[in-house]
Amino acid sequence: MDEDGMNSNKSASVEDRMNAIQSVLEARGMEPAAAIDQAYHRAEEDWVPRNGARIIAKAWTDPAYRQRLLADGKAAAAELGFDMPPHHRYLVALENTSKIHNVIVCTLCSCTAFSIIGLPPDWYKDLEYRARVVRESRTVLKEMGLDLPATTEIKVWDTTTDTRYMVVPHQPPETIGWPEDRLVEIITKESMIGVARLMGS
Ligand code: FE
Repeated sequence: MDEDGMNSNKSASVEDRMNAIQSVLEARGMEPAAAIDQAYHRAEEDWVPRNGARIIAKAWTDPAYRQRLLADGKAAAAELGFDMPPHHRYLVALENTSKIHNVIVCTLCSCTAFSIIGLPPDWYKDLEYRARVVRESRTVLKEMGLDLPATTEIKVWDTTTDTRYMVVPHQPPETIGWPEDRLVEIITKESMIGVARLMGS
């Protein structure tokens, strides 16, 4: 051990370690390569922001569903067939209003409700965003192109392992009356994180 308490022997590369783990699992009759492929497939094909967009479009057009979403986001997502990993115990839907704007962060790392709003963008993982959005949220949002009126209160929500968030953006007034399928197309991942608004809303 060196003075930092670290083992000073050089570690194997990530690739070497993955290969070693894979060999051990294969020797025991397991199929790690298939499992890894499946995980990638899930991330790219299944965990897409369109899931959250469908939830929000339904909430905009169905007041009873909106109530259920605000009461228990995980159950409301499941109603539409969207599951979440077991350790995501709660999905909290944060509704933006004319007075309150919600924005989410994970100050410790990069947690999101990824099965619902999609995988986190690179900037979401940056220490810069994680630290500054808490201390100076109005300035950070402005730098990202979202200039909120001084009268709008900004609420920052720090994600934890078991509690995940999604922002329910304001429905742009010009889209009132649109069918759900058309609404789904305008709802972005950024709006569900709370760093962007939609159209003229
Ligand atoms: Fe995290």
